[in-house]
Amino acid sequence: MSDTLFTKIIRKEIPAKIEYEDEEVIVIHDINPQAPVHLLIIPKKPIDRIAHMEAGDAALLGKLIYRAKLLAEQKKWKDYRLVLNNGEEAGQSVFHVHLHLLSGRPMKWPPG
Ligand code: AMP
Repeated sequence: MSDTLFTKIIRKEIPAKIEYEDEEVIVIHDINPQAPVHLLIIPKKPIDRIAHMEAGDAALLGKLIYRAKLLAEQKKWKDYRLVLNNGEEAGQSVFHVHLHLLSGRPMKWPPG
């Protein structure tokens, strides 16, 4: 997989507002927030899209959801939406897997 914007953010070659970081995951604030809270929870391992994850990636990607839960608990965000876009038609624009965490406003379903 070639470098993406998120690889460069992980390597600190491009600045981002970092909310959390450990060995496997980085959490940044979305540059174009769609809600009062809009975080991107990104595995450091470069997987370009959910369709290309392998069985061995399941635990790592599960950690993205668990990190969202922990952050929401810490910040007292009671209701939130988690989004994973797979492919352009679904709205994916950066081809390095990331989980959106959105909160702070009522949300409609289904999404557009
Ligand atoms: P997606 O469209 O699901 O691939 O999500 C990519 C997200 O990355 C979008 O919500 C963008 O607003 C966000 N984004 C793009 N560039 C940056 C950046 N430099 N820092 C933080 N978020 C970004």
